[in-house]
Amino acid sequence: MALFDPFGRKINYLRLSVTDRCNLRCIYCMPAEGVRKLKHEEILSYEELQLLAETAVRIGIEKIRITGGEPLVRKGIVDFLAGLSKIPGLRQLVLTTNGMLLSEMAEGLRAAGVHRINISLDSLKPEIFARITRRGNLDQVLTGIRTAESIGFPIKLNMVVMRGINDGEILDFAGLTMEKPYTVRFIEYMPSMKEPDWRSRVFSGDEVMRRISEAYRIRPFPREDSLSGPSRNFRIDGANGTIGIITAVSSHFCSECNRIRVTSSGTAKGCLFDNAEYDLKPILRSGNRSALETALREIVARKPERGAICDPDSHRKPFDMSKVGG
Ligand code: SAM
Repeated sequence: MALFDPFGRKINYLRLSVTDRCNLRCIYCMPAEGVRKLKHEEILSYEELQLLAETAVRIGIEKIRITGGEPLVRKGIVDFLAGLSKIPGLRQLVLTTNGMLLSEMAEGLRAAGVHRINISLDSLKPEIFARITRRGNLDQVLTGIRTAESIGFPIKLNMVVMRGINDGEILDFAGLTMEKPYTVRFIEYMPSMKEPDWRSRVFSGDEVMRRISEAYRIRPFPREDSLSGPSRNFRIDGANGTIGIITAVSSHFCSECNRIRVTSSGTAKGCLFDNAEYDLKPILRSGNRSALETALREIVARKPERGAICDPDSHRKPFDMSKVGG
């Protein structure tokens, strides 16, 4: 059964955050002073998350991405994922992680039936990595990536490009695809927190392309499949891997949006950059499947045509990406 919103977009992708906790404090994701942690009872239990996922798949969701906070810090995550991967009709179970715990967990994730892992990595230089993550350990992440690769996970790296911080590493990241069969994706910095100087940080996808094409010959590369996100893909001539550019800020791809989001406390969002939120927790706690189904359909029915990502006059509230899950 397929699920469509009023603008004819097929909605088949759920981003599900399983925790607000993170072992990093990335500068673009959380304010320096940190964020209030949710109380244990505010967080959905694994049973509630499972019910949500099953119901979403029953009405047309085909791909679920587990996110956070950092999903791998939640106790019991591997068993939870093993349960999710068995949901009939779920075509892709994928996960996004900062990679800090990957070396010890990659094997379990593979066995649990996770199809793919996206690893967020914004610098290959220890001092810049530490500045961006405020507490990460680059070596630990690189070891995690190698472990995941060695057991057969396809590797997708997501780099948020920030002017004056890590834009000097675009060619290093692009160059990784020459030798490795990795997908490296360059993501425009999004003003989720609406900092006054956010525009000065944005390094556009076009600029990324220009920089890469000055050094390499690149050709367009087709999308992976019908469940893939809005990335424009390229391959450097002779490379093993591919490059993707995600231009959330400089050029909207709302017409292709196929997703809804639910946070670890059960708040659903039909659009990342819209204030509308729906509290699914009471329904999940009541265990009422048909009410849940109705609520999810309602969220899809109310998806806005466009999100107010960069409109300075919009009343969009700032938010921490660590709560929503990216
Ligand atoms: N901890 C996990 C991770 O690092 O992938 C999952 C959560 S994190 C919020 C998900 C994604 O959101 C990461 O790839 C991160 O880079 C991205 N993200 C967070 N804030 C962002 C921002 N302001 N602009 C662009 N991407 C952002």
